[in-house]
Amino acid sequence: MAMMTMRRAVALGARHIPAAAAASSRVVPLRHMSADAGAAMEKILSAGLLRTQGLIAGKWVDAYDGKTIEVQNPATGEVLANVPCMGSRETSDAIASAHSTFYSWSKLTASERSKALRKWYDLIISHKEELALLMTLEQGKPMKEALGEVNYGASFIEYSAEEAKRIYGDIIPPTLSDRRLLVLKQPVGVVGAITPWNFPLAMITRKVGPALACGCTVVVKPSEFTPLTALAAADLALQAGIPAGALNVVMGNAPEIGDALLQSTQVRKITFTGSTAVGKKLMAGSANTVKKVSLELGGNAPCIVFDDADIDVAVKGSLAAKFRNSGQTCVCANRILVQEGIYEKFATAFIKAVQSLKVGNGLEESTSQGPLINEAAVQKVEKFINDATSKGANVMLGGKRHSLGMSFYEPTVVGNVSNDMLLFREEVFGPVAPLIPFKTVEEAVNMANDTNAGLAAYIFTKSIPRSWRVSESLEYGLVGVNEGVISTEVAPFGGVKQSGLGREGSKYGIDEYLELKYICMGNLG
Ligand code: ADP
Repeated sequence: MAMMTMRRAVALGARHIPAAAAASSRVVPLRHMSADAGAAMEKILSAGLLRTQGLIAGKWVDAYDGKTIEVQNPATGEVLANVPCMGSRETSDAIASAHSTFYSWSKLTASERSKALRKWYDLIISHKEELALLMTLEQGKPMKEALGEVNYGASFIEYSAEEAKRIYGDIIPPTLSDRRLLVLKQPVGVVGAITPWNFPLAMITRKVGPALACGCTVVVKPSEFTPLTALAAADLALQAGIPAGALNVVMGNAPEIGDALLQSTQVRKITFTGSTAVGKKLMAGSANTVKKVSLELGGNAPCIVFDDADIDVAVKGSLAAKFRNSGQTCVCANRILVQEGIYEKFATAFIKAVQSLKVGNGLEESTSQGPLINEAAVQKVEKFINDATSKGANVMLGGKRHSLGMSFYEPTVVGNVSNDMLLFREEVFGPVAPLIPFKTVEEAVNMANDTNAGLAAYIFTKSIPRSWRVSESLEYGLVGVNEGVISTEVAPFGGVKQSGLGREGSKYGIDEYLELKYICMGNLG
């Protein structure tokens, strides 16, 4: 692929670079980048959106000891920028700033908070292209998906701006006639938000939008793999008039930052999206100060294709559910269960569809599959494939690293997968679709529920009674019926069992940032 092999330096020296960005020594000189990455970075710089420092109390700051970490482009390995490697001291200051801003931000009227959020939404949309370029550069996803994520991410801010004005309380009929009983909804307080790399914008807006709408203030810790999108979004928040201190961003030493958030009595809530292992640590660590906790953890999504499914709908839906972001989402179909009568037909059509996926650098327009996030992710996929083949599965398509090198992996289909294989038991988080045959509805539901995870599930059938019955018996927080991409800001997203606690998006997601206060007014005469 041209982009991978060329790595040609571009002579950008004579081009204009805005003073603010040029002043930052953290930006890697564009002439050291491949042509497409250099051109993309130039657009981002021109828009003033390449932020390479943390944000504390409205100020862009370095790590106090000056340490930095590199942000790399997974498609090429090139270093895009260096960002501060922060720790507990910077996090404590960010918490203090969020805490002191809480009193003013939470006292604004809902309408004032709503207007600032709406402005933030407008700014995100008007910088859609630069934000998408940043995401593709640091995360690897194809531009089309990155643009989709900007819309999706922005939608949580828009929705939160609207809902800010609809946070109603209650009046309860009293049990004694001289009393009045009221319920107020009030913001939780300072929120610590820890987010992953696979959705560098949306996982932040899904938390920060509702938190700010309710009157909470936030310390965000984005993934160290993808901090640039988070910092650009924070810059736009400042421009929108979200006050200094209401939104702080720190990154660097994840366990140290996490511990500082957990130990603080001022942080009243932890909201996290990421691995189940880290989620459990955060939940345990929240016990000491009894914080509210919301967790979006790993999934192991079954995608059940019944004999009576519309084959085109099933192939299209399972392809989208499996291969979005190269299989790196927690709602990606992890196990495709196919009923015996349709197995051969589905496998043939599905493989044909997978063959049409184009692997490449996300900056290229034709790309539909970007690289995996890093070498460790590829090694995990290799381990799962080796485990499956050693236990009798057969690779029907792909099954190896892509000729592009780096962390590119071939879109893969594996047949005859069974429940003793890693591909069945754990999330592969890569472009591997395991096909698992089954006979009866009961068998499919049992296999689907045979896991500690419970985030998303998908079913494909033309039968309305079966849609109902199976949806109801799946132990999952989300079910897609004849549809592979179901997340939206207006519906509750979240898992059961070890996939998490709480919901994001929708009116239910707003409640996660609110406390109920009961007021009893007595002796009214
Ligand atoms: P993934 O495997 O998807 O990267 P992780 O759970 O490792 O999932 O990472 C999700 C987020 O959690 C990232 O921002 C990461 O830096 C952060 N993280 C990892 N370990 C810790 C920890 N001990 N405390 C707090 N945050 C952590």
